[in-house]
Amino acid sequence: MNSILSLSKYVMNLSKKDKDLFSRIYTVTEDVGALKIPKEMKEWVISRFGSVRAVENQKIVRVDNNVTCESALFNELRAMRPIEANKNENTQKFIKEKIGGDFCNPNTRTAEDTFGRVKGSRSVTGSNIAKYDALHGLVIFKEHNPLKFSLSDVKDYLKIAEKWIKKGYKKYPERKYPYIMWNCLWKAAASIAHGHMQIVLAKNRHYGGIESLRRFAEGYSKVFKSDYHDDIYRVHKSVGLAFEKKNNRVLTYLTPVKEKEMIIISKSIKNCSEAIYRALKAYLEMGVESFNIGIYLQPLDNSWNMPVIARLVDRGSLSNNTVDIGGMEIFAGSNVIASDPYKVFDRVKEEF
Ligand SMILES: [Zn+2]
Repeated sequence: MNSILSLSKYVMNLSKKDKDLFSRIYTVTEDVGALKIPKEMKEWVISRFGSVRAVENQKIVRVDNNVTCESALFNELRAMRPIEANKNENTQKFIKEKIGGDFCNPNTRTAEDTFGRVKGSRSVTGSNIAKYDALHGLVIFKEHNPLKFSLSDVKDYLKIAEKWIKKGYKKYPERKYPYIMWNCLWKAAASIAHGHMQIVLAKNRHYGGIESLRRFAEGYSKVFKSDYHDDIYRVHKSVGLAFEKKNNRVLTYLTPVKEKEMIIISKSIKNCSEAIYRALKAYLEMGVESFNIGIYLQPLDNSWNMPVIARLVDRGSLSNNTVDIGGMEIFAGSNVIASDPYKVFDRVKEEF
């Protein structure tokens, strides 16, 4: 089975052309973290990590994106490290207890936008009562349980989000920068335990992450006369971390923002909705309980172009009170990752 710990080896074996493209975008650094285990700890270390040697010489693989400065540190041992935190009580019970809340009655117990509600067969929009930005809507799912959704559900949610964007833009044409997000449950910062997505429309310029990606991609294209998003896909494909299906380019990202990041590059929201559903299905089967999805969209007046880029990330177990990001992610900008992108890729590919 392939592993991120062998990434350098895979790159070495590429054709010159593929290797050059890989090295243009990525730098891979292998390192070893050494330590000594006292004999009193050995038995515990073996039961926890399998061997003393693997712990005393830990392989660390660092991947840096030379274009965007995204950076990730992979060490598989971290996935097995002890977590000393309080455990929440039964989360399914918690979700059930919230049945009958405001989002179960969206027409009477959620605000509506000045341009009204958009209604789908499986969802309805509302206006976020405490807004991130001036135009901030909700797609409230009919299904209460945030972890229960079908393909037709996801298609409906995204269709309604897109309709909301069109309606909002028509009424407020200066708000031309759309962004769709799906925060699933509290580890992903959702404050309401009822399934919902959110949509925002920015004015003046796009949100920071999307604007910076645009600038990096523009600079890349000027220097190398090649499309950055095409090349990101090619590089991931060359090392066995991407495939294409129904005009969707699906990849497990080499510099993930956090655990199990998947990226779907597509031509439209409609076109990527099935791929998003399939990736989520794989997530649920891998035991993911809380996730974020962010969908990057180009400005509605087409003043610049970017493919539709959906990013998905696992935010960890609901019963684990430790937050998944700390000083490395928040300030150093190098994300510490326990999940192996190759394992995620193999599982996701089975769903397609
Ligand atoms: Zn509900």
